[in-house]
Amino acid sequence: CIGEFCSINRDGSNECHQQVVDDAEPSKYSRELNDQWIDLKRKISIAFENYEECSAKNCSCHAHVIQENLLNFKNGITPQMIKAAESRGTKYQIINHRLYRAKACMFPARCAGVEHFLFKMKSKIPDTEFILNTRDWPQVSRYHNQLQPVFSFSKTDEYYDILYPAWSFWEGGPAIKLYPTGLGRWDRHRNSLKEASDTWSWEKKSNVAFFRGSRTTEERDPLILLSREEPSLVDAAYTKNQAWKSNADTLNVAPAEEVSLEEHCRFKYLFNFRGVAASFRLKHLFLCKSLVFHVGDEWIEFFYPAMKPWVHYVPVENGETKEQIKQLLNFVRNNEDIARKIAEQGYNFIWNHLEMKDVTCYWRKLLKRYSKLLTYQPSLDDRLVEVKHSS
Ligand code: UDP
Repeated sequence: CIGEFCSINRDGSNECHQQVVDDAEPSKYSRELNDQWIDLKRKISIAFENYEECSAKNCSCHAHVIQENLLNFKNGITPQMIKAAESRGTKYQIINHRLYRAKACMFPARCAGVEHFLFKMKSKIPDTEFILNTRDWPQVSRYHNQLQPVFSFSKTDEYYDILYPAWSFWEGGPAIKLYPTGLGRWDRHRNSLKEASDTWSWEKKSNVAFFRGSRTTEERDPLILLSREEPSLVDAAYTKNQAWKSNADTLNVAPAEEVSLEEHCRFKYLFNFRGVAASFRLKHLFLCKSLVFHVGDEWIEFFYPAMKPWVHYVPVENGETKEQIKQLLNFVRNNEDIARKIAEQGYNFIWNHLEMKDVTCYWRKLLKRYSKLLTYQPSLDDRLVEVKHSS
């Protein structure tokens, strides 16, 4: 393509477009950009080709996570291992299809969020016991700790923790002004977000990248700074969280008002970053049918591994500069057919494979497989109290 912009189609053929960038040094800049875009399109083609749609309806899309996490415990889980893990979380037992829990739970709303699922399935689970970590942070480092079975909602590859679905699918998520009792009720959010995505169809969405959240990590700074420089490209700002003391905590600017997750659907491009661990934000963003930019790939929840970069979202390396983010945005803004397709694939995945019944199904599979690894028959621990109701 001479004097024009060249792209590669999925079948490998070339396509020519009018040049889209103006710059002081058009020839050098456009050559570099051309190479970059060809490279991105190649990555996307490969990702699409290698992706096998997960058609299963019974949470088996996520079953490999259970298998991988439990592989560390293939030699069995002994009573000594449970005892050693006790200080790292809250002890639960299911005995004779009744649910029991240690009296104290560090975060009662989080325990309640988990018990909503455990209570429902107790009649299908054999006698078992496990330690459930309700902190944000995982507990058992491969490098610093002995192997212990601890259930956590989020981790990186560095940890032995066994992933369970976060409490916030039901209740106990972060309490912000908009969600004063804590983010939760994924069932309701699914419907309200679907409605919002119907209202804000792709054509109606603003051609701008969007983020609202607090400064739980500095990894969010480049996007916020880019927004301050180029508000027509990015609308990103820091909100207060409970730790906010002064404008220094919102990068020297007064905190922005919070924006509901449904309102996020007004924008074509939505950014996700890790928080202290994985952020609960991610699953919601997909249901806007906007294109999700997911920054960093270390911190996961149980449903992340089934989702693939460039198929369901745009991967952004942690530490990318303002300029690199701008280039990615430039690419998707000029290749809306691709942007829209990835956005739809992301939406479809979460809509079809992250229903409440998938969360319940994952819990059930996890507990059944985990229980088979116990080398002993658990008996009722009289320090525990029975959980007689769930919210
Ligand atoms: N949140 C929101 N609107 C806002 C700010 C935050 O809906 O304006 C939600 C966000 O989706 C996330 C939660 O509140 O699930 C906490 O966000 P924050 O950025 O404070 O923390 P993190 O993402 O690190 O968990």
